[in-house]
Amino acid sequence: MVASLKTWVWAEGRWNELRVDVAATPGFSFHMVGTRDPTVREAPNRIHAALLEVGAKWPGKRITVSFHPTRPWQLGSAMDLPIALAVLMASGQVPLREGLWAIGTLDLKASLSWVEPDRPAPPQESGLFLYPSQAPWRVQDQNWAPLSSLREALEVVKSGIPLEAPLVPVLHRPAPGWPGLSLSGTALTALGLAAAGRHPTLLVGAPGVGKSEFARAVHSLRAAVEPNLPFVEPSSTLSPVQLVGANGAFWAAGTGVLFMDELGEMSLRTLEVLRKPMEAQWSRDATQVPQTIGATNPCPCGYHGHQSIECTCGSARLSRYQERFSGPFLDRFQMGLVLGREADSVAVPWDEMVFKLRMAQERQRARGPWLGNSGIPLESLIQCAEITRQAMDVLNGWHKKSGLGLRALHHAMRLARTAADWGQRAKVSEQDAWLSISLHASQFRLTSKSGPWGLARSSST
Ligand SMILES: [Zn+2]
Repeated sequence: MVASLKTWVWAEGRWNELRVDVAATPGFSFHMVGTRDPTVREAPNRIHAALLEVGAKWPGKRITVSFHPTRPWQLGSAMDLPIALAVLMASGQVPLREGLWAIGTLDLKASLSWVEPDRPAPPQESGLFLYPSQAPWRVQDQNWAPLSSLREALEVVKSGIPLEAPLVPVLHRPAPGWPGLSLSGTALTALGLAAAGRHPTLLVGAPGVGKSEFARAVHSLRAAVEPNLPFVEPSSTLSPVQLVGANGAFWAAGTGVLFMDELGEMSLRTLEVLRKPMEAQWSRDATQVPQTIGATNPCPCGYHGHQSIECTCGSARLSRYQERFSGPFLDRFQMGLVLGREADSVAVPWDEMVFKLRMAQERQRARGPWLGNSGIPLESLIQCAEITRQAMDVLNGWHKKSGLGLRALHHAMRLARTAADWGQRAKVSEQDAWLSISLHASQFRLTSKSGPWGLARSSST
């Protein structure tokens, strides 16, 4: 099979169009024709390692790479990406695509970079153009796809996006003023803690119980103290690149709120790629990581665990749905809340909430420059959290019984710290520890066939 794509070469003081053809035929050898540049002749070594890194392979074929037109140009290492993509297409590992343009250097880890000198943007007019996000130009065109890795390039080639959808995420500005929201007990406390500590939170509940209102309320509360805080609600059909790529929705949310509704409808791959950037929140040098609030129905029909409406999903369908939320994925959330409609809910006392939020945030700022208590780095956690011995015994006892990893314990400690800040306590008490455990995201882990999601406990709007 022969695959072709186009690229740009800087020569004679301007950008020149160059076609890269790759043929994969029976045999086992490698040939490169149409260039004498020694740098480009090393490309197969870099590409070989990069392909393995992304789970692809160097085909066991006779591979011939040829460049047209044949000129004595310096091609450099920027031919890595076009050659790699053409090799994958020619060997049937990714679908053949017409009108594809690419440029960029790959390293052994499959990262895509720009190692050429500063140049003006190429005169690209049509076709999908994949280039390193490090390149010295930014063009607002949905067919220009700035990327940071070969993995992202493959996502784009496989999905056809961004030809079919813009890279710009859907931005919703919540209406000014307070959402007319009623909550009861635990949910009201959870709202305060989520806003005060910036904890990544997973909301589970039937349709119409107010999951998105809750997320907006967290944003409204935080925005009362930090004006112009972004609120980004990407569509559930976004590709991984659109979500966490260089221009993706995740980063567009800055330090604000990223609301991921309908997590159960997102592709498994998208859920998996979210894990890494979410984790950045509690790394020592995090400065621009949003607070992720995820929401999902408990099951495809939406009524699993509902008091009056019966769930119509079979058990196989139910467990397939819930298995999407893998342990490692749930581990990135620090708080989890089951929302339902309950009779004893009251209107959110906004003024009081804002006052408590300011007080709690002041305590946090005195502790360190992190992204709220959710971002206290592990190295500083023991020293900064000021957890009493009794409270630590409660947390340790729970952790031991839970069988969860250490990350779960650390999240419980961060959340307990916020519970103490919310209650204006210098030290974390046993009561704070119990509250933290009851709101821990691990409650949604599949623990047994009969009781997934821990839906017995319910709180609500
Ligand atoms: Zn159901």
